[in-house]
Order: sequence, then C-alpha cells, then structure tokens
Amino acid sequence: MIPPIASRFVAGESPAEALEHVRRLNERDVNAIVNLLGEHYDERDSVAADGAEYRTLIGDIANSGLEAAVSVKPSQLGLDIGEDVFRAELTEVVDAATDHGVFVWIDMEDHTTTDATLDAFETVAREHGGGVGVCVQANLRRTRADVRRLADVPGKVRFVKGAYDPPADLAYTDGARVDEEYRKLLEYAFEHYDGGIGVGSHDPAMIEYAKALYDQYGTDFEIQMLMGVREDAQYELAAEYEVWQYIPYGDRWKSYFYRRVTERTDNLKFALRAVLTG
Ligand code: FAD
Repeated sequence: MIPPIASRFVAGESPAEALEHVRRLNERDVNAIVNLLGEHYDERDSVAADGAEYRTLIGDIANSGLEAAVSVKPSQLGLDIGEDVFRAELTEVVDAATDHGVFVWIDMEDHTTTDATLDAFETVAREHGGGVGVCVQANLRRTRADVRRLADVPGKVRFVKGAYDPPADLAYTDGARVDEEYRKLLEYAFEHYDGGIGVGSHDPAMIEYAKALYDQYGTDFEIQMLMGVREDAQYELAAEYEVWQYIPYGDRWKSYFYRRVTERTDNLKFALRAVLTG
C-alpha cells in the first residue's frame, strides 16, 4: 500500500492501477508515459520479468485504446549485466510495441551509460523506422554533439536538465549554465529536427522558450512532466499543446519517491503541500 505522500507521485503497485490513472488522465486530454519502477538489475531473471511485464502492459494499452507510451530504464533491461543483454531485451520490448502501435521511451541514466544507451537507441530506432525515443541531459557537456548526431535518426528525443550528478569535468554544475544549455539544445532541435521533440521539464521558463521556438520554426513538440508535479499546468497546457505525463508504478516505489524529494529540496515542500491541500 502506497502512503498518500507518495501516491501523489506513483500511480500504484499494479499495472491495473497505473492504467486506471492513465484513463483519468486521458479524460483531461493528457497522454501518459508509463514506467514500471526498477533499475540496476544484476540478475537476468529480474530483467526478463520486467521485460515480460512491459510486453504485457503494451498489449493492455493497445487493447484498452488508451493514449499511452511506456518508458524503460537501460539498467532495468540488463545494461549492468551487459550491453548485449540490454539490446536483446530492448529489441523484444520494441518489437512488441511496434506490433501494437505503442511508443517506447528510453530513459537516460548516469553518464557512464550514455554511449551504450544512445547506440542501442540508434540501432533499434533505425531497425524499426521510429516508434522509439531517447532522453538526453542538458547538464552533460557532450550532449550538444549527441543532439546533432540524433538529428537524422528516426524517433523522438526527450530533453531534460539531468537528474544525476556527473563529475564536474563532464558536466555543467551551475543551474543557470544548465538552463542556458537546455535552451541551446532546444534551439538546435527546433531548427534541425523534423519533430519528435519532447520538452521534459516543469520549468515555466523552458516551456515558454519551447513555445516561442515552435512559433518561430513550427516544429512539432510535446511537453512532458512527471505525475504529481505541476498537474494544473499540465491540464492548462493540454488545451493548446500535446502534453504527456510520466507515470511510475510498481512495488519499488520507495527509491523513486526518495529521489523526487531529494533532487530538489523544494520538492519535499511541494510533496508535503500536495498532501496537506489534498
Ligand atoms: P528545475 O530546474 O528543477 O526547476 C525549475 C523550475 O520548475 C522551478 O523553479 C519551478 O518553477 C518549477 N518546478 C520544478 N519542480 C517543481 C515542482 N515539484 N513543483 C512545482 N514547480 C516545480 N532525468 C534524467 O536524468 N533522465 C531521464 O530519463 C529523465 N526523464 C524525465 C522525464 C520527464 C517526463 C521529466 C519531467 C523529467 C525527467 N528527468 C530525467 C528529470 C530531469 O532531468 C530533471 O531532474 C527534473 O525534471 C527537474 O528539472 P526541471 O527542468 O523540471 O526543473
């Protein structure tokens, strides 16, 4: 049973609870990106179990007619065991998703996984002609080059500021510098991409910037935010723009909730206020 303070951020422990949340969200014109919580598996059984659950979930999404994608973590699909394990499991998930017309996002984890994640994305995206997207992190110095590389790969790219703490020589550590880099990455994408831009940020300034770039270039984009964060803004934006809410579920909710409240001290205040004000 998920306590109220965490149920603001996690849809439940079962796929049925997650899909019920998706149904309520779709009624308000917000689409869903469903993530089964799990990461850093060092046993193949755990990888196979989550891969199988994603394939079942994809079938359930397709049969229910809900507007939902899924989002997987590389280390959930075996990257800590080996790149070959990750690629094989990812391919099986994307095969199933392609059969059912469901989109698959690949989350980006810490900087040691960036190459393996982008390489696997590129292979699978080219093999499937799209239907898959990957996340890039503005706080990494390498990301400008990665974003140029991804320009002619089919699929979508989600732009985030970065939730991990990379070593200082590889990253921008100052918040204002990360924001500046985020804007530069969006500028490049709106100018050079055919669409498929995911603006993964709660920051009103970044969203305004994306809207202005859309007005300038007309490139299709979507806004992505987390469940439980600025939900009123999500519903308002959905009247005019494509909005997707990232919805985690599963019995490993404790570490996800802990990360949300520790990545920004403010998030704890937001979480507490959310519980207190219902
Ligand atoms: P911040 O820079 O944290 O805050 C800027 C402003 O946004 C704040 O001043 C405030 O106005 C507003 N804001 C922020 N949080 C709140 C809140 N809780 N309530 C109200 N207002 C708030 N990171 C990864 O490294 N890999 C991933 O795969 C990944 N996937 C993501 C997917 C989605 C859909 C989203 C939304 C984020 C993802 N992230 C991922 C996390 C991301 O990297 C950031 O750590 C996180 O989004 C915080 O940055 P921000 O741009 O939202 O805003």
